[in-house]
Amino acid sequence: MTKILKVKAREVLDSRGNPTVEVDIVTKSGVFRGMTPSGASAGQHEALELRDGDTTRYLGKGTLKAVDNVNKHLASKIVGMDCCDQKEIDMLLLGLDGTENKETMGANAILPLSMAVTKAGAAAKGVPVYWHIGELFGVTPSVLPVPMCNVINGGKHAGQENSIQEHMLMPTGAKSFTEGIRMISESYHHLAKLLKNRFGAGGTLIGDEGGFAPAQIVDVNERLELMLQAIDNAGYSGLMQIAMDPASSEFFYNGTYKIGSKSYSGGEMVDFYADLCSRYPIVSIEDGHAEDDWESWVEMTKKLGNKIQIVGDDLFVTNTKRIQKGIDMKAANSVLIKLNQIGSVTETLAAIRLAQQTGWTAVVSHRSGETEDSFIADLVVGTNAGQIKTGAPARSDRNAKYNQLIRIEEELGKESQYPGQKFRKENKVLFCV
Ligand code: PEP
Ligand code: MG
Repeated sequence: MTKILKVKAREVLDSRGNPTVEVDIVTKSGVFRGMTPSGASAGQHEALELRDGDTTRYLGKGTLKAVDNVNKHLASKIVGMDCCDQKEIDMLLLGLDGTENKETMGANAILPLSMAVTKAGAAAKGVPVYWHIGELFGVTPSVLPVPMCNVINGGKHAGQENSIQEHMLMPTGAKSFTEGIRMISESYHHLAKLLKNRFGAGGTLIGDEGGFAPAQIVDVNERLELMLQAIDNAGYSGLMQIAMDPASSEFFYNGTYKIGSKSYSGGEMVDFYADLCSRYPIVSIEDGHAEDDWESWVEMTKKLGNKIQIVGDDLFVTNTKRIQKGIDMKAANSVLIKLNQIGSVTETLAAIRLAQQTGWTAVVSHRSGETEDSFIADLVVGTNAGQIKTGAPARSDRNAKYNQLIRIEEELGKESQYPGQKFRKENKVLFCV
């Protein structure tokens, strides 16, 4: 047994310069730290992110209440427990909160504590974090993820209205994760050259996730053409595929979707995506429809579900109840996994398990407001999930995750597997618990 000796929370900054919560757990093995990220295009059904609302500090976004909740209400209950008992600790935290959506303590109080416990548990056993997660989850970690790298940022992450949020490269033709990241980095720099040539220095300004955010190109076709050109210039034609996250809840108004000056019904959006998929190597679309437009999700899955991955983010919010509803309705075939949407490591593992047991994929994801914490890199390998989305290969809040995956691939050596084109459920045997 390795006892938790001390728990201490503090307010620190995230990648957007907003306050967030960091928690230290002290055991005889050292100090272990968890930090919570924060979304901008957040789903309405996510667990509560507790903000102070005091406009004299951080424009009302302070997190001192969440910090106090850890230091005054949760810490004393956790001190003395065994840091390897992740589930027991998480269940105690949920019980102390006592609400469905963590409205008493805040998911931003519970999650960093839960993540720090995982890291302390790994150290207590003397194993890497991904290995400890594998033991909690019930798999032998070996699968490195295919990255989804958001090289053109739009929507809320780029200060734009009614525009597609994420245009991502997936190096499915790479032989390893490390090779895939090199291909992505080279393509990203070729894209920078194209944008600079076309729009001058302003063309390479970046958005929240490190991707370029050229205000001059709002049309999705133009964006995808540029990406294909960059892939070609880098010498990787045919080795790279495309994923998109329109984040369409952000441009859904009273039953109508608006992209630029055009309006679409849910069914017309399905046709819009089908057309894009027929002309570009798109293999995954996330949040193509809004968070409560279940019927359109079902229609999309019926029409495109055999061809591409249909990922629910705002739709499922990493919540097993909503995922189960999606499974029952056949509303998608993949779940985006964000720890802070649900607010504890144990519940996150349950969401991944439910997706995988159904034969769906689970894509582990960052938030647009990130930190230097690379926990999700260990999470994706520890669950053999096979896909990670964590931004462009630029800015250290994003590269902290990619760099940790490079280290893990090196550490696993010959035991590591990179799914490449088999990142979807046809590779199910790799991902099954
Ligand atoms: C997303 O929508 O998938 C995303 C990462 O953005 P945010 O963190 O702003 O919700
Ligand atoms: Mg999303």
